[in-house]
Amino acid sequence: MGEGFGTRAVHDGYDCRENGYAASVPIYQTSAFDMVDADRGDGLAAGTLDGFSYSRLANPTVKVLEDRLASLEHGRGAVAVASGMAAVSFALMCAAEKGGRLISSSSLYGTSVDAMETFFPNFGIHTDFVDDINDLDAVEALIDDRTRAIFAESVANPSTAVTDIPGLARLAHRHGVALIIDNTVPTPYLLNPIDFGADIVVHSTTKGINGHGNAMGGVIVDGGRFDWGNGRYPQMTQPELVISDERHGSMVSFLDAFGDLAFLHRVHTKYLHTFGAVMSPFNAYLQLNGLETLAQRVPVQVATARRLADHLSTLPQVTQVNYSGLLAGQVPAGRGTGNEQGGEGGGVPAPDDRQAHLVNTLLPKGVGPILSFRVEGGYERVKRIVDGVRLISYMPNIGDCRTLIVDPARITHREVPAVYRRAAGVDDDLLRISAGLEEADDLIADLDQAIAAAYA
Ligand SMILES: *Cc1c(COP(=O)(O)O)cnc(C)c1O
Repeated sequence: MGEGFGTRAVHDGYDCRENGYAASVPIYQTSAFDMVDADRGDGLAAGTLDGFSYSRLANPTVKVLEDRLASLEHGRGAVAVASGMAAVSFALMCAAEKGGRLISSSSLYGTSVDAMETFFPNFGIHTDFVDDINDLDAVEALIDDRTRAIFAESVANPSTAVTDIPGLARLAHRHGVALIIDNTVPTPYLLNPIDFGADIVVHSTTKGINGHGNAMGGVIVDGGRFDWGNGRYPQMTQPELVISDERHGSMVSFLDAFGDLAFLHRVHTKYLHTFGAVMSPFNAYLQLNGLETLAQRVPVQVATARRLADHLSTLPQVTQVNYSGLLAGQVPAGRGTGNEQGGEGGGVPAPDDRQAHLVNTLLPKGVGPILSFRVEGGYERVKRIVDGVRLISYMPNIGDCRTLIVDPARITHREVPAVYRRAAGVDDDLLRISAGLEEADDLIADLDQAIAAAYA
């Protein structure tokens, strides 16, 4: 891990000598691989031989992406999947299967809330939601014998509130519970949650990692440090035929077979093989292409998001701007703030001080490309603004090299129950922007004309 991010983003996980000296990672567009002879076939199937047999189990193009993302996220391994929702769903279900409970922030991507609120209960997985995931006392009060994981987005979409990952990690680990972080908004370029104690990191690679809005994808990264044998996770310690050698009478569990990487292997062997939401080699190729320039794109997007936030703050029609990046550099030196400091000695810090402290400790290079803002006059004006933008695209995506605008209450968070939506600040007067790579001046001019027209 000695090399810098930009270097690893271009090189890690790929050896051109094993790929006909191709500079660009080849697309292994094949369903199956010739196993050559019976002994090799037996070894591949048993997992005692490294190699490829069938693309639902593993594919060389996808494997390069997995290894590269594991490196960039400081994890010990990664599994790529067909979309961000496959990553979120598989990670949460893998932690909580067999009657477990989850504790989650309610300030999340809409489909993630809906999954936990209305769908996972059908599979016996229940979730306790908290409106402020950084209220560590409230989170701790919800932990019981069935709790398996705490889940939050590192930077919440669309509020951009920063999650106290170090504080939650300490709390979770005191109780033997895993911390799962959705790191989609900042991307691994701005934040590595595993460095701050997260156990599992998920991404929608559709967003900033791809960066060009041309392929869906997701990834689950395992930090490889959590003790899945601590008694909370029966699914990890029960013998499993699929990884055992029945012919020789040996039955092993995921913990027996894979130790600290039991989670990653369970996601791969049970979830990916069973539900089949694999990433296609072509999509992996597009994600790799995007990754190569992540370190160059994100700083531009962060700077533009900051400029747009500053500009929107000056407009009379804008009643509130949500961009935690505005708090960068705002905490007086030496002032103890934030839950992650452990002590409340100097009194409970004001929420903005806590946010400023988290922004400065977790995300010194910026909080990401998205910001949101409220406007005077509610949905009628929101509608006219999205209809009025010319350069900015009206799209439900983020992290694209194009600048995008959306009305979250009706689009990205439509399926979220109103109580959670309001708690996350997603009301009818809210607009979200994802800053792209256009010139900031051009974007400001476009917003200005759309807003002026909406109030004319
Ligand atoms: C988009 C998104 C997802 C879902 O990803 P898909 O690739 O659309 O399935 C999950 N979490 C966050 C934070 C997202 O922005």
